[in-house]
Amino acid sequence: MVDKSLKYMKKTALVLGAGGFIGNHLVSRLKSEGYWVRGVDLKRPNYNSSAADEFFLYDLTDKHNVERIIKTGFDHPLQYQEQFDEIYQLAADMGGAGYIFTGENDANIMQNSAIINLHVLDAVNKLNQFVHAPWYNDSRLHSYTPKNTKIFYSSSACMYPEHNQLDPDNPNCEESSAYPANPDSEYGWEKLFSERLFLAYNKNYNIPVRVARFHNIYGPLGTWDGGREKAPAAMCRKVAQNSGEPLEIWGDGSQTRSFLYIDECIEAIRRLMEGEFLGPVNIGSDEMVTINQLVDYAEKAGNKKLERTYKLDAPQGVRGRNSDNTLIKEKLGWAPSFSLEEGIKRTYKWISSQVNQTRLV
Ligand code: NAD
Repeated sequence: MVDKSLKYMKKTALVLGAGGFIGNHLVSRLKSEGYWVRGVDLKRPNYNSSAADEFFLYDLTDKHNVERIIKTGFDHPLQYQEQFDEIYQLAADMGGAGYIFTGENDANIMQNSAIINLHVLDAVNKLNQFVHAPWYNDSRLHSYTPKNTKIFYSSSACMYPEHNQLDPDNPNCEESSAYPANPDSEYGWEKLFSERLFLAYNKNYNIPVRVARFHNIYGPLGTWDGGREKAPAAMCRKVAQNSGEPLEIWGDGSQTRSFLYIDECIEAIRRLMEGEFLGPVNIGSDEMVTINQLVDYAEKAGNKKLERTYKLDAPQGVRGRNSDNTLIKEKLGWAPSFSLEEGIKRTYKWISSQVNQTRLV
């Protein structure tokens, strides 16, 4: 007898990269909305246990692994299997400036992330063709109605052309400015390729895709040390750990960025997924600050004032970047709801508790 338990009556989601920062938060949100969720990653979340109903430690660069996890049920021949309602593809080889902009990891970044996207889309497409075949739709075999799984893909603001981000006071990251393409990193080139790949599968095979370009997402449960952490986490850690030495800033501190708090990002992802607009669309904050201002907020959160040194030869990416939110406001009616200062305050609280725990250990 086929196991058709309650979990299959709920809406189902597959989160790839569920052990990562955004994937981990997304799993929690989907669970709170009543979804049945499978998470897949090379590793479990670093700082909490995943809320997913199932969690598989799988390498998604392996095609056979992707084919196994792409449908509900798992391996057992009598287990009820069907397509997921939604797939969120967040798995990628990534990190902060120290990982992406040195050039030392370029081949791995491009190879690993591109091949995951190629395998995922190929597996979804083959499964669709299989279940939509006339002979498959035999109600004596099962009562399953084939569906068109929606797939979300997380691209990045790093795909925007470098020549539009040279002026720190006036960067252009409007969606339509993507071409002629000229990302400043191989990470950005891979993102550009993969977002085109998702859109090509939509065009040729009618797979409902949603493509977002994230701009610097930060918040609790994000990597805060080890070399892959991003600027907000790095600054909070440096302030929290500081015992009087000067605080090191990569670059001259006047390069500009915007940063989006994780809960706001998850809300925007869910709205994009629920709506009709495919993207690509920016998911970011349009509150542009200099790195020095970011440090001001971290210092304020930690109630410390520190001497600063500037490491001018450190990897730092483009001079200016800010999310242009015109399109997302128009299409989804979404805008961030609170300030960077408030988000850093919440993030600092979590990172300083991590720092204190590490000290105790
Ligand atoms: P993250 O590094 O925390 O999560 C990515 C996850 O993918 C990791 O847990 C990693 O183990 C997993 N992964 C990598 N290779 C894998 C493989 N071969 N098999 C299985 N899992 C694998 O990153 P994040 O911040 O959560 O970002 C999620 C997505 O959003 C990524 O695609 C990233 O490029 C994109 N993005 C993030 C930001 C940001 O500011 N966080 C900005 C732009 C784009």
